[in-house]
Amino acid sequence: MRIVPHVRRGALARLGDAMARHRRIIVAVQWAVVLVYAVLVAVPAFLPVPEAGANLLNNLTLAAQFAFWGLWWPGVIVATMLFGRIWCGVLCPEGALAEFASRHGRGGAIPRWVRWRCWPLVAFVATTVYGQLVSVYEYPQAALLVLGGSTLAAVAIGWAYGRGKRVWCRYLCPVSGVFALLARVAPLHFKVDREAWAAYPRRTPAVDCAPLLSVQQMTGAAQCHACGRCAGHRDAVTLSVRSPVVEILASGPRDVGRAEAWLLIWGLFGVAIGAFRWSADPLFVAWRQQAAAWLAERAWWKLLDTDAPWWLLTHYPAVGDTFTWLDGLLIPAYIGAVTLVLGGTLQTGAWAAGRLARLPWTVLALAWVPAAGAGVFVGLTLLTQTQLRAEGVYLPWLDTARAAVLALAFAASLALAAARLARERVPPVRAALAWMALAVPLALVGAAWWQQLFRA
Ligand code: SF4
Repeated sequence: MRIVPHVRRGALARLGDAMARHRRIIVAVQWAVVLVYAVLVAVPAFLPVPEAGANLLNNLTLAAQFAFWGLWWPGVIVATMLFGRIWCGVLCPEGALAEFASRHGRGGAIPRWVRWRCWPLVAFVATTVYGQLVSVYEYPQAALLVLGGSTLAAVAIGWAYGRGKRVWCRYLCPVSGVFALLARVAPLHFKVDREAWAAYPRRTPAVDCAPLLSVQQMTGAAQCHACGRCAGHRDAVTLSVRSPVVEILASGPRDVGRAEAWLLIWGLFGVAIGAFRWSADPLFVAWRQQAAAWLAERAWWKLLDTDAPWWLLTHYPAVGDTFTWLDGLLIPAYIGAVTLVLGGTLQTGAWAAGRLARLPWTVLALAWVPAAGAGVFVGLTLLTQTQLRAEGVYLPWLDTARAAVLALAFAASLALAAARLARERVPPVRAALAWMALAVPLALVGAAWWQQLFRA
């Protein structure tokens, strides 16, 4: 693509333009990431369990675990909230492989079942719960199964549908919906100037947008993978800085479907928090003991057996880590209970706020995105902390720093809710009540985090 700027472009815009010009460099980086990813996912699964005394620097299994779960996951969440979905467009190995397969595949039309809007929610819930059951964060076999399985599915979908597109990433990836929510607050985005687009004097070939966006119509960063391929197109697409609140404040009902709002409410605040909590919650431990005693009294031993295969429930007798069938029932039950309490309260609050403000509840719920993103980030750093402690690294300030991140994000969500209600000119009493309906459920989530960080 030849870039012919009408006016001198700033440094950031030129960086975006360079992404379009130097596509080969980005592709080379993607293949390098594919290589590293393949080694870190596949090789540890065939290595023996790390011996006592092994550490991050001398054991590939521990290094891979730290890279994937201690650094990669929290890093991707922060990067998405700051720079948009640059992980998806520039670095993601699964996306690169899916696109490659699609370029060389059968190029079929995308069927209706693939476009089902609830896939991101269903896939996120399923992988989160399953990941807990097989201890995906701790065992390389489980990581190979979950991550490798997801990559194989991405390649198969890429091969089957689309021509050089990322059909998997757009519709089916388990974290695509999460990234689409979080990218809405990113200060960096590819901005489309529709007037400049329309005024461009020549015909141009269509942009090769891998996630199948209509670039001319693009108004936000939610679905854009920030790959930079369209930068400079028709002198109308520019890598730009914006206020982190602008996309959420401007979102209408067409910009956020119910499935996406459910993912925010039931997925990020419900299932994710349940998954972060269960292993450290004294309530869960007490439940488990009571249930085991109750079963033992009745001599119902089957549920207390630990003979499930490792791909169904955690089963590593060599290191004394095995789940009973009872665990296999209680862990999803606990996550489900947390989801019902937190998700149910938030959903009720969103509905109530929508009725009070006479606005779509989905649009109002978007104000919770900063709090949800901070919660996922903080939850993931719990694992980073566990891994660092195993290496003898203690960070005494970490809980306070996490509480500060959560407090800032929750305050941002409350301010966003107030700003949205003011922007829509909701009458003051209704606006105050609607704001309360959004604030009270968030206080419950805050209390859950407080309890986990400081009382657990
Ligand atoms: S609109 Fe499409 S081509 Fe442009 S940066 Fe986003 S993902 Fe890439």
